[in-house]
Amino acid sequence: MHAELEHLLALQEAEQEILRLRRLLESLPREKAEREARLEEARKELDAKVQAVKDASMEVDRLELELKTKEGEIEKLEVRLNSTKSNAEYTAIQNQIKAFKEQNLEIEDRVLELYDRVEEIKREAAGEEEVFKAKEATFREFLKSLEEEEVRIRKEMEELAAKAEGIKKATDPEALQRYESLMKYFALHGGVVVSPVVGGVCKACGSRILPNDEVKLLRAEEIVQCKACSRILYLPEKSRAQG
Ligand SMILES: [Zn+2]
Repeated sequence: MHAELEHLLALQEAEQEILRLRRLLESLPREKAEREARLEEARKELDAKVQAVKDASMEVDRLELELKTKEGEIEKLEVRLNSTKSNAEYTAIQNQIKAFKEQNLEIEDRVLELYDRVEEIKREAAGEEEVFKAKEATFREFLKSLEEEEVRIRKEMEELAAKAEGIKKATDPEALQRYESLMKYFALHGGVVVSPVVGGVCKACGSRILPNDEVKLLRAEEIVQCKACSRILYLPEKSRAQG
């Protein structure tokens, strides 16, 4: 293999790894936002349950007040009943008292039902709160590990960048310049600038290379580029042994 190809391959490897890590780093905030949204959703569900407990309790209070008001009315009506002289009024008041009492029986039933319901929702809310707290704890752990991962990735990227710089310094400027001008284009297309030739074909673009170029690759005296995609070509050790 041409001596500079070793450098270019090592450089490409480092730069591709930097690219991969950069994408990974960019994907972290998205994952954080997704997890945050799910936690927020769970929080809203819990809030709704707590609100349901409050609503049901308020309904109990309202009904109990209604019950008391009606009982007061009944007492007043009973006083009137004892003092009335008219038969018709007596019957009317009696009917009114009867109606109120029947209504109160219904309200009492409703209150009893609601007592049970409130207890049930309270139990559910307590259970959901436990689940939510666990989710919250998991999220906090995730945030912590996210921070650690970010630090780790940045450190690794810095190390790779330093390594890439070292390789660049050791590389022949002309070969490096060729590599870098190709990378300007290929960085957005997978970042492969140095492509292996396998079975007489440029692996990156799939084009067959000229027999003449294959001979040049074997001689390893100059840098050969793919006629189709312009990438810098190399023969992997294995195919050289076979070829
Ligand atoms: Zn090619």
